[in-house]
Amino acid sequence: MLAGSAKTTTNQSTSSSRARVFSKSRNGSSAKCREVPATRISSLQRAVTRRYVVRTFGCQMNEHDSERISGLLEHDGFEQATDEASADVVVLNTCCIRENADNKLYGTLGTLKAWKDADPSRQIVVSGCLAQKDRETVRERAPWVDVVLGTHNVHRTVDLLDHARTTGPITEILDEAVVDDYALFPSALPVKRETSYRSWVTIQIGCDNTCAYCIVPAVRGREMSRPFDQIVDEVRTLVATGVSEIFLLGQNVNSYGRDLSLASRRAGDDSVRIAPQFAALLRAVGEVPGVKRVRYMSPHPKDMREDTLLAMAQTASVCEHLHYPLQSGSDAVLAAMHRGYTAQRYLDRLHEARRTINDLAVTTDVIVGFPGETETDFQQTMDVTAAAEFDSAYAFIFSPREGTTAAEMVDKFCDAAEVGGRYERLKVVLDRTAVQKHRARIGRIEEVVVEGTSKKNPDHITGRTRQNKLVHFTADEKLRLGTYANVEILGAARFHLSGRLVEVTAIPTHRTRLAVASA
Ligand code: SF4
Repeated sequence: MLAGSAKTTTNQSTSSSRARVFSKSRNGSSAKCREVPATRISSLQRAVTRRYVVRTFGCQMNEHDSERISGLLEHDGFEQATDEASADVVVLNTCCIRENADNKLYGTLGTLKAWKDADPSRQIVVSGCLAQKDRETVRERAPWVDVVLGTHNVHRTVDLLDHARTTGPITEILDEAVVDDYALFPSALPVKRETSYRSWVTIQIGCDNTCAYCIVPAVRGREMSRPFDQIVDEVRTLVATGVSEIFLLGQNVNSYGRDLSLASRRAGDDSVRIAPQFAALLRAVGEVPGVKRVRYMSPHPKDMREDTLLAMAQTASVCEHLHYPLQSGSDAVLAAMHRGYTAQRYLDRLHEARRTINDLAVTTDVIVGFPGETETDFQQTMDVTAAAEFDSAYAFIFSPREGTTAAEMVDKFCDAAEVGGRYERLKVVLDRTAVQKHRARIGRIEEVVVEGTSKKNPDHITGRTRQNKLVHFTADEKLRLGTYANVEILGAARFHLSGRLVEVTAIPTHRTRLAVASA
């Protein structure tokens, strides 16, 4: 039985949101619907400490959700395992935006079946966008999965695991975010951060746009902004634990706060202007003492405003990097994508950004072969890309995502071989510009924050500049993760710079001792 035919609507006591709750017997034969109580197993009831691994597919938003899942599990007494073999619980936090996401998930679940068969007390959780989209289909295709949960109920991970242990496999998908603050934003939950010096902070969930190729609005729901003060408070708390770099996360960050001001007006505060508050947020976060770097992802070109560019230019800690997704250089294709801007408007705003922010690096996303794209449309994308001179770009060949408008434009799908050729031609332009941009930095002294050792050469340290460029460099001393240092740039390639340490400018304040390399 498909989820859509079995769903019920229940009102949960903690929230006014609608919850669609499904459960199914392990053999899959007797599907039925019921409410899921919070059946918690206390740590005293657990004879031994259980261990977990979380595998993440997808974007920063998913990685941040995974940090919260890890935090919730550890808050409940779990310990992190090094691999599946030593784990009692495996969480697959999925993404449906990337190509072949289903194949990757079901392939991994196939491998995990033997792991589960070897010890039936082991548990498998599938969470994230693909779970939100596929719902009960996940356990129809892999009945050995214990828990399926969606994007709006990450905070229920432990409850659902406990429920599955006592009562059997469970699928719980909420249609929208719950309203209470604790559960609403991943950042409001316990966290186990992957890095000691940098932290993601969710400022907004969901998206109100309707880009024809994108599944996000369907799986992440309506746009909701997190309260301004709550974000700034979290940043202060993070700085107190040694975090110096803040990465603000949202699907369309530069519309952040519009819903908050609208809510204030509706509540009778006529002094509030209905406008986004992202520029003010950037300034407030950037001015928290101890914050050295602020980044954000992702803005939408149609919503990029002058006040945001000024906030970037005038707030010392906001990094000189703008990810500015173009998607296409053809007005016809942009209209078919429902992007809400023209190529000229995109370029005008980009030039304004470069005029306003000194030494700004710009990166982008481009989709090749969107349904109906002609050779002329593609040539326009080539022209705009060349004019924009991106520092780097993610180019994708269009692939339909079930549930999106674009997936239904079957009669307009482009010829695969032709699209492949266009992609290769675009890469030539993008790579050429990236190398030129990197070469222009040779001889400069750049500030980097140490991220680890180079994967190719463990004697080299890897750092990231304010412009978000990776630098592999040599040093005569050990440097801890999160160290700030000045590096002289000596070489340039397509994806990275190389150089040598000049001086350490700030040592990390977090306690973990993680020396990463010495030359
Ligand atoms: S702005 Fe468009 S591409 Fe970005 S999340 Fe929203 S719908 Fe998707």
